[in-house]
Amino acid sequence: MTKTNLSFLKKLKLKSISAGASTGVAWLKTTGEIIESYSPVDGKLIGKIKTASRGDYEKVIATAEKAFSEWRKIPAPKRGEVVRQIGDELRKHKESLGMLVSYEMGKSYQEGLGEVQEMIDICDFAVGLSRQLYGLTMHSERPNHRMYEQWHPLGIIGVISAFNFPVAVWSWNAMIALACGDVVVWKPSSKVMLCAVATQQIIESVLKRNNVPEGVLCLVAGSSKEVGDVMLEDKRIPMISATGSTRVGIRVAQKVGERLGRSILELGGNNAIIISQHANLDLALRAVTFGAVGTAGQRCTTTRRLIIHEKVYEEVKKKLTKIYSQLSIGNPLDPANHVGPLIDTSAVKDFSSSLQKVKEQGGKILIGGKVKQGKGFETGCYVEPSMVEVKENLPIVKHETFAPILYLMKFKTIEEALHLHNDVPQGLSSAIFTENMQEMEAFLSVGGSDCGIANVNIGTSGAEIGGAFGGEKETGGGRESGSDSWKAYMRRQTNTINYGNSLPLAQGIKFDI
Ligand code: NAD
Repeated sequence: MTKTNLSFLKKLKLKSISAGASTGVAWLKTTGEIIESYSPVDGKLIGKIKTASRGDYEKVIATAEKAFSEWRKIPAPKRGEVVRQIGDELRKHKESLGMLVSYEMGKSYQEGLGEVQEMIDICDFAVGLSRQLYGLTMHSERPNHRMYEQWHPLGIIGVISAFNFPVAVWSWNAMIALACGDVVVWKPSSKVMLCAVATQQIIESVLKRNNVPEGVLCLVAGSSKEVGDVMLEDKRIPMISATGSTRVGIRVAQKVGERLGRSILELGGNNAIIISQHANLDLALRAVTFGAVGTAGQRCTTTRRLIIHEKVYEEVKKKLTKIYSQLSIGNPLDPANHVGPLIDTSAVKDFSSSLQKVKEQGGKILIGGKVKQGKGFETGCYVEPSMVEVKENLPIVKHETFAPILYLMKFKTIEEALHLHNDVPQGLSSAIFTENMQEMEAFLSVGGSDCGIANVNIGTSGAEIGGAFGGEKETGGGRESGSDSWKAYMRRQTNTINYGNSLPLAQGIKFDI
């Protein structure tokens, strides 16, 4: 296996044992257990984190609460200026942070760089947003009255992030929340805590030189028991944005809902591409390959199902089998490799057990399916991307396995394709490849794809930050990132001002005294 040059760890100034909690401008002497972070790439120890305990969490939340009372009063464009500088700081550290993302999570270096670029892009978006937090004005039915609405910040936003986007998901939430006047407390995934620590260190200098109040951007890297669950029940946090599995999302919805808090839920996907007989197959095959095997099938928007017209089914199957047989699996930091490792051996177990269920339920494995062994694969985290033929949405097909398994199925009519497409519990991303206008429009129409993202002639993965990101059904219904997603991080207030000398009531009601 190629030896990884670890000089990026020095550039990121990671200590051998990092603290797991920060108030933005100061690190806490944390008191939780020590977690060791090993790379799924080569199994080496990257570093250790002394995690945040419940007591550390309390200190951070108290500081964040105080910070909110100051930060909300700072004019939004001035808050935007801080976000702009965060973007600049991330630009300076793009290579080293991208490398850490890649090494700790296991995605390719190009994807690691892409993830940091997403952070930079959302900073740019949030800077512009800081001058565009618009409310509407309405015409009052009463004379000499003016009505309008304005948006105020909510308070502390809790961000719970998943392992597969160790830093970008935080930035989608945090940079928008910051521009809106909120303060943020981040609980990263325990599997990629060093990425969070490094990010927090990068932004620290910006917060310090701008005299940003202590507590505006906080980190609490702790276990779900010590920190995560406590956050869900904490009434001081009016909104929790949680990215992760549907299982955890349901818990977040229940716990936060019980106290009538708000949540943005970004959960599992089961994304399909419909390939029509009218598709440009060259485009489709490239999109399918990237969507299905990129990040070793560990994107929420990974292509997991292919619904193929019977007339082109055999051709697509044959060509894809050829592509799959030529994929190079190995160290994701080597640009010659297409497929890196899964996050850990427990993800490998899920991969193997899903393929076992495929067999039991009548599916046929066309290619792949094995766990790689031998030199270069000592971590036990590398698997062969797998293609499976199924006749229908078997129970296992309806389940999100977070690994590179692609299910192929046939259709005759577009109605049948749409039925197969929507007949799963999740509703994140979707695509159709066709050059037939009627099929295209049917896919995008009210009776078409039921997902939050529906694409034509581009694949399911790789969303742009300018659009609202999220999905329906078991994907949770949340939206974050671009468009008007910012509204979820603010509270709307309707204001009516009477500038006359009488007090007319609405709806013509009379009440004389
Ligand atoms: P996970 O559900 O295991 O963990 C997600 C986060 O929730 C982690 O930070 C974890 O520590 C935390 N958590 C777990 N139990 C908790 C509790 N009781 N209280 C509070 N927090 C708790 O998910 P994962 O394995 O890290 O990520 C993969 C999943 O995330 C996949 O299902 C994927 O589809 C989904 N995902 C969705 C999106 C999206 O935008 N829809 C994006 C990325 C990942």
